[in-house]
Amino acid sequence: MAQAVSGVERIVDCHTHLRDIAHTEHFLEIMKAAGTTRMSVMATMRPESGSGIPQALYLKALHPDKFYVFGGLNHATYLSQGKAQAPTLAEQVDILMNLGCDGIKMIEGKPTSRKRLPIPFDSDYYADYFARAQERDFPILWHVNDPEEFWDPQKIPTWAKEHGWGYDETFVQKETLYREVEEVLNRHPELKIIFAHFYFLSADLPRAGRFFENHPNTYFDLAPGIEMYYNFAKDPEASRNFFQGHQDRILYGTDIISDRTIEKASSRAEIVKRFLETRDTFTTQPKTDPLLGSPEEGIIRGIALPHEVLAKIFCQSFEGLAGQHPRPLNIELAISECERIAGIANQMSDVAPEETQAAIAAKKLRKM
Ligand SMILES: [Zn+2]
Repeated sequence: MAQAVSGVERIVDCHTHLRDIAHTEHFLEIMKAAGTTRMSVMATMRPESGSGIPQALYLKALHPDKFYVFGGLNHATYLSQGKAQAPTLAEQVDILMNLGCDGIKMIEGKPTSRKRLPIPFDSDYYADYFARAQERDFPILWHVNDPEEFWDPQKIPTWAKEHGWGYDETFVQKETLYREVEEVLNRHPELKIIFAHFYFLSADLPRAGRFFENHPNTYFDLAPGIEMYYNFAKDPEASRNFFQGHQDRILYGTDIISDRTIEKASSRAEIVKRFLETRDTFTTQPKTDPLLGSPEEGIIRGIALPHEVLAKIFCQSFEGLAGQHPRPLNIELAISECERIAGIANQMSDVAPEETQAAIAAKKLRKM
């Protein structure tokens, strides 16, 4: 069972995933076991199956004060070569805001995603979109890159390779993505962006510090990537100083996925909390989410941050970006949006129309 964090008023997990609408109840049990007050659901879109935003909207409808939703972009127009039509990306910003979403999730910077959608972030395809998100002050949580070792066949962990995350020269290179992001941030300096998984800079804290200085509206989340914690353990004092020095820019997150057992899912929360709150030296456990590898792979050393820093990391900074309470859902719009997403899925795949997450969510929302 997760321990409550001493003296922190709320724990908001800024990075979680609801895979399937059938996991709704289970997700709440995970949340309880993880000791979390509110969760932000990263609703990455799979346009061909209508999955992502619909199940998250339904969850928000059921528990309006428990869940934030960061909606993913729908690239159906590009992916179907025009067979299916999604609104422009800039229009999608407005749609997500009108629905009552709390931000945008981008997975487009993960190398496997980038291979499916091989469009640079500083190209025209994204220009109006980033401009609109900045204009409307709508936060983005963005996954850019992956751990360094995923590009190195000698060093990539087995569990990562099994997921197809070994990157050869047919994949985008790490520095190419960083360069594109720099360009986006230079053009839109007011954009509020949380970079997932510490922006994969945990092995180079001086570089992470320079990035924060150059881009004052950026944040990193702590969702493992277990390699982050092994990197932090190499010099716990330097890590602690970094967290103290950038205490307003780091957010608690776990990447909990709803299809895991309660024990495996909440093990993620336990690792991140123990790292932040204690001076313990520890490893992952056999019961840990297998995506975090095995206990022999590394040692984690806690950095025991003071209470006022923990309060920022666990809730205040995220609430500063997304609000102290989740935005209210517009149920009527949510129904029509789910129906629209279901229509796109039907045009792009052979999934039976009534079996898409979008169609199931629309039906459930209509009954509420
Ligand atoms: Zn994630």
